[in-house]
Amino acid sequence: MRNVYLDYSATTPVKEEVVQAMIPYFTEKFGNPSTLYGPGLEAKAGLDKARKQVADLIGAEDREIFFTSCGTEADNWVIEGVADALRSKGNHIITTKIEHHAILHTCQYLEKHGVEVTYLDVDNEGFVDPADLEAAIKDNTILVSIMMVNNEVGTIQPIKELCAIAKKHGVLFHTDTVQALGHIPIDVKDLGVDFISMSAHKIYGPKGIGALYKRAGINIPSFVHGGAQEKKKRAGTENTAGIVGFGKAAELAMQNLPEHAAHSDKLRRMLWEKIEQTIPDITLNGPKDFTKRHPGNLNISFSYIEGESIILLLDAYGICANTGSACSSGSLGSSHVLDAIGVPITKANGAVRFTVGDFTTEEDIEYVAECVKAVVERLRELSPVNGAEGW
Ligand SMILES: *Cc1c(COP(=O)(O)O)cnc(C)c1O
Repeated sequence: MRNVYLDYSATTPVKEEVVQAMIPYFTEKFGNPSTLYGPGLEAKAGLDKARKQVADLIGAEDREIFFTSCGTEADNWVIEGVADALRSKGNHIITTKIEHHAILHTCQYLEKHGVEVTYLDVDNEGFVDPADLEAAIKDNTILVSIMMVNNEVGTIQPIKELCAIAKKHGVLFHTDTVQALGHIPIDVKDLGVDFISMSAHKIYGPKGIGALYKRAGINIPSFVHGGAQEKKKRAGTENTAGIVGFGKAAELAMQNLPEHAAHSDKLRRMLWEKIEQTIPDITLNGPKDFTKRHPGNLNISFSYIEGESIILLLDAYGICANTGSACSSGSLGSSHVLDAIGVPITKANGAVRFTVGDFTTEEDIEYVAECVKAVVERLRELSPVNGAEGW
């Protein structure tokens, strides 16, 4: 049996070079970066280097990068921070129905505190219509937050175009780039965005470290109060090793981005072709045009059966895949993303997300395609609704 990991959008293994870069910051360079003696200064130098590495990956300046404990914190910070900072200007935020829960649940929380939120619809491939965004902007709109790449179905939004609409109306623009970073080129200056959220563990870095890009000149209050770290914007002794690991992962991502994207794209196309040729009654969820979706993402509904059952049986073959998203598996109810793109509940229940990455090989794909076929056939034999209409 092989072990094949096809859940790179949930998290990635940490690359060996990243681990090696981090290790000294647990031991000889263990100092508190806010101190002025040797080990502290070394730790500070590590932070400075990492800040530049992350800034370079998105075309930002070092001073525009603020490290956080994760992508979720960056998302929470920007939504709450803008709502707070611009209270006197307005209280309306625009986002979409397919955001990560780090955005959606923060917006829902703010709604309980008097903030008005518009959740834009998307089309059946997950795209926001720029005209819908323009129509939703009002005098009291203070922020637009639209994710760059969707974590379940891989849709790549036209962020530059969407951002230009917000700018035309003088509204701040944030994009969650956690799924885009390292997979598609990001240039904050070219996009014109004010804020982006990032996370290390989706780009072969460690878990528990993220960052917010905040365009120079824009001010939002601190989210974690305490010491003066991160230019008084994010208190708490820095996760030095994590930050250094994020920096190294960002550097590697930048060096290899086109090759990595091409590698992922080739393998996910291969997997799709094999599955499409050998298994009937399946649907590809998300963009049909593979150039408009995350290069490693496939999201497939298998009619008549449950995605969770497929995942469990694939696990017995040593294969890790996921239903919609890691963050919602284990919770009741189907995916809010599949619902928003109009996938009927029967088909949404049969959805499986396969995400390939740097360590995936052609042999892995051959093996997975065979196993998926065997598992789907087996489950369909047992399914009381096998072949039924409407499924
Ligand atoms: C994983 C993910 C997050 C959360 O990042 P963490 O570092 O795990 O908190 C936010 N947004 C998207 C789109 C994600 O895929």
